[in-house]
Amino acid sequence: MMQLPCPYCGVRDEDEFRFGGQSHITRPDLNCSDAEWADYLFCRDNPQGVHFERWLHAFGCGRWFNLARHTVTHEILACYRMGEPKPNVTGDAA
Ligand SMILES: [Zn+2]
Repeated sequence: MMQLPCPYCGVRDEDEFRFGGQSHITRPDLNCSDAEWADYLFCRDNPQGVHFERWLHAFGCGRWFNLARHTVTHEILACYRMGEPKPNVTGDAA
């Protein structure tokens, strides 16, 4: 079982959290093309390396936060609150 760090509560078991998908996705302008809108709705990164993700501490403080996680090793490279800038992390751990 993974353990995830909540920026408000500290490290907890994975069972307390819910995955919220990729983070740092920007909604396109309303005048965008259908292809741009479809890309926004349906296309997400699936890297073999560092992935920036949203997590909800559902059975804890109930707050959303961001993680930078390596998808191969599951190493947590960064944990930060919503609204904080995306950290510059590299995923050369694998
Ligand atoms: Zn929490």
